Amino acid sequence: MSLPTFPDDWARATVIVAHPDDPEYGVAAAICRWTDRGKAVTYVMASSGEAGIEGMPPEQAGPLREQEQIRSAAVVGVNDVQFLGFPDSALRNTGELRAAIAQVIASTNPDVVITNFRGAEWAPGMSNQSDHIELGEAVVQTIREMPSTHHIRLFENGAEPTHIEQLSEHEVAKAIESLAQHAEYLRVLDPETSVREQATAQIHSVCYRDGEDTAAVHFSEIDVRA
Ligand SMILES: [Zn+2]
Repeated sequence: MSLPTFPDDWARATVIVAHPDDPEYGVAAAICRWTDRGKAVTYVMASSGEAGIEGMPPEQAGPLREQEQIRSAAVVGVNDVQFLGFPDSALRNTGELRAAIAQVIASTNPDVVITNFRGAEWAPGMSNQSDHIELGEAVVQTIREMPSTHHIRLFENGAEPTHIEQLSEHEVAKAIESLAQHAEYLRVLDPETSVREQATAQIHSVCYRDGEDTAAVHFSEIDVRA
């Protein structure tokens, strides 16, 4: 299987996802490659991930996860990180969410938008989260409805790829370092395994999928004119 390489003829990308850590579990290695080549990337998180740390109240978890996300983004060259303040675990594709997304797209003026996978399952038996699906649908709908977005190419970090970005060892290492910045989150998630080991295992499972021996990130393009 040989897929087309991810396009390179663009200058600005906006990554719009549901939660802190969503870019780190999929696309951060590619982001590192892009920022190294001088492209500008903005991260936009619909929620602050405040429901994501078991046993920690949301008012404590939200600010902590925002700080971890800002550090994580900086590792791969992203210094513009925005949080829209919608409720974690209760995202809905509402007019209010789409209006906030439209504002972000207008202000960041991207050539490329990356969002969450909208499918029901990552793989048979591995169900996707409702927040990812709702947010992804809101992004697709917003871009389709906005005027003057016809130049935008929209991709999800999907299960049925249309494009591939090959990665160097350096980019894989940066992606591991980036995910490891979610230190408190990962520590609570699995207290038995070190943060570094968890991050390494996760990134390897994403970047060397189907047992391939060269690392890559896969994307599915969504037709915004459909
Ligand atoms: Zn998520």
